[in-house]
Amino acid sequence: MAFDPNRPFDAVFADYKTHVNPSMADLLRFMGFESVEHHALGARVYDAEGVEYIDCLGGFGVMSLGHCSPPVIAAVRDQLERMAMGTRVLFPGAQAALARRIAEVTPGDLQYSFFVNSGAEAVEGALKLARFATRRTAIVAALEGFHGKTLGALSASGRAVYKAPFEPLVPGFVHVPFGDVDALDAAVDSSTAAVILEPIQGEGGVIVPPDGYLAAARAACDRAGALLILDEVQTGFGRTGRMFACEHEGVCPDVMTLGKALGGGVMPIGAFTARPHLWTMFAENPLLHSSTFGGNPLACVAGIAAIDTTVEQGLPERAATLGAHAKASLQRVADAHPDVIAAVRGRGLMLGVSFTDPDIGGLVIAGLAQRRVLAAYTLNNPSVVRFQPPLVIEEELLDEVIRRLEDSVVQTKEMLAGLEE
Ligand code: PLP
Repeated sequence: MAFDPNRPFDAVFADYKTHVNPSMADLLRFMGFESVEHHALGARVYDAEGVEYIDCLGGFGVMSLGHCSPPVIAAVRDQLERMAMGTRVLFPGAQAALARRIAEVTPGDLQYSFFVNSGAEAVEGALKLARFATRRTAIVAALEGFHGKTLGALSASGRAVYKAPFEPLVPGFVHVPFGDVDALDAAVDSSTAAVILEPIQGEGGVIVPPDGYLAAARAACDRAGALLILDEVQTGFGRTGRMFACEHEGVCPDVMTLGKALGGGVMPIGAFTARPHLWTMFAENPLLHSSTFGGNPLACVAGIAAIDTTVEQGLPERAATLGAHAKASLQRVADAHPDVIAAVRGRGLMLGVSFTDPDIGGLVIAGLAQRRVLAAYTLNNPSVVRFQPPLVIEEELLDEVIRRLEDSVVQTKEMLAGLEE
């Protein structure tokens, strides 16, 4: 029986609860997301009844080009009608072209790319490359950092709640406070294969490190002969107001991990890209690392179209301008409600509103759902409501989101005051 996108909510809820994730089903319902997603365009999402939502979450950073970006859809459709999956023996033209395009838009001499299907797989590959290239095993990472949930990526991540149930994880990982140069310097030594950092921590609660931190990380790696891996899975492709967040500090990594927006919001794809002298693992054995679906032509043409569209539409610049505007508006909301909002943080359109308590953040998200705005908290810091709309969002829509956010904050405060009485 063909899939019916118009099945009623109760039927979808029952299937999801019985066959996918019972607790998530209850959580989504509790947060007020009682609709089935149906179609979407740009920053607007519609449920099966045609109700419109504004997407302020952007698929956790995937939707930089918005939903169903026409140039990406056109590229994927064209490829789909010619050849959906590659042969794996004839030369993959789309993969070669995407690797060249990534070398063109990334900073420094990053040159070779390996394609995978997710951010976590990109991190796995980068960690393996670091071990191989340095013949060392220790990795320094940041507390509250997030790099994915496969075993290696989880070992690099810095929040105990996601790690403890699966221990022992991969050995050799040391975690230091993010933004603390002295702690990083003390942790990096001649046993360190790599330092892995997000240039701005996303799931940690949208944390921008102090100026000079990435440069200090670069220097510490150079001193110790370790590699600097920058995880730009969430920050990459314009999100923070530059093509890559490391460009704010003029720092070039040895290895960069990519994902999310690389697929243009249409295809899943991840990649790790590295400087040429580090690609030795494939010189020794071209199949030392491999992936059945990695580099498939549908994902690669989406990646090429995504990069081209990001450059042609000036989306990093747009993120910088709209982001500054949104941040100032959010700060005005924060200034009006200092009893519940502790801070507004971030760069470009990677913003976070930090509430004084995770429960307040949760109630505000539920209030936004009632007002038809899709929002969520950051995974490693539930007090922070993320603000990551598509970079193509119209300015008026962005202003509307902030108005609805303030309404939701006011409603939450009234509710809390009612409970206290
Ligand atoms: N790295 C960073 C910085 C991320 O934000 C994420 C996901 O949020 C990942 C890696 C993992 O990506 P994925 O969920 O595609 O495996």
